[in-house]
Amino acid sequence: MMRFGWVFLTALILPTFCAAAPHKIVTSFTILQDFVQEIGGDFVAVSTVVGPNSDAHVFEPTPQTAALLTTADLVVVNGLGFEAWFDRLKETSGYKGPVCIATDGIEPRSLTQEGHLQHDPHAWLSVPNAKAYIQNIKTALSRLDPVHQDTYQKNAAAYLLKLDDLDAWIREHLAPYPESARVVITAHDAFFYFAKEYKVKVLAPVGISTQVEPSAWNMAALIQQIKTLGIKTLFIENMTNPKLIHQLADETGASLGETLYSDALSEKNQPASTYLALMRHNVTLLAKAMAHMSAPSDAMAASPAK
Ligand SMILES: [Zn+2]
Repeated sequence: MMRFGWVFLTALILPTFCAAAPHKIVTSFTILQDFVQEIGGDFVAVSTVVGPNSDAHVFEPTPQTAALLTTADLVVVNGLGFEAWFDRLKETSGYKGPVCIATDGIEPRSLTQEGHLQHDPHAWLSVPNAKAYIQNIKTALSRLDPVHQDTYQKNAAAYLLKLDDLDAWIREHLAPYPESARVVITAHDAFFYFAKEYKVKVLAPVGISTQVEPSAWNMAALIQQIKTLGIKTLFIENMTNPKLIHQLADETGASLGETLYSDALSEKNQPASTYLALMRHNVTLLAKAMAHMSAPSDAMAASPAK
């Protein structure tokens, strides 16, 4: 009798589990993958087109990428021109499902580059913008899977609280430094939204896309600025070529800082494997450089040997 009971119970439970196979979500890059995983939890299986430490600006889709899209239930992209390769990939793959544009509703920075009006795609590096990403992703998941919308709502609310903590932590962490020390040089122009939100000035030899190399004139102007502003630290990024930053360091005598993570998360065993870790890592490094900038010069600070 007991045995029959168990078989009966198993038969009841099994189909319930089978029905709850996770929804296949494909994101264009790792930061979106992290966001979707946070909101979707166990109800989603998330893969990403462009992986950790990789550059989405210059990504070239392969047949494997197209295959990934073919089986997706939902695709999440950044928008604002970040994934120039996406429309063609979507067409090649035959994907007809929903596409969530995570930057929907965000006021973009517009600028003219190479004679064309473009949007700056790096909106995620400001935490208030990241909160808008979370709302858009929550809406897309709830539409795809209304049965579990309460869970998505709950997960999003919990994550938004973490983003509020992060935002407050960033402001507090950068607060001690004067305006003259809040200047940073990075490899490409990814930190505008961050800089605007947290009152930092960020300069870079390469524009909003990594595709275009700077002119000799631009490099000379930047070298002059580094010298005039007394900038002591230059940052490389995890997904860009460090060549130009090395060149700037050689010509100005500024030292190389550690790696900032801008357009991609790191691998799991590195310091920026989630969005929250990425932002804390970057701000810690930036604050260190600002402390260095606002400190008295090395000669004056050096105390006689005891
Ligand atoms: Zn970028």
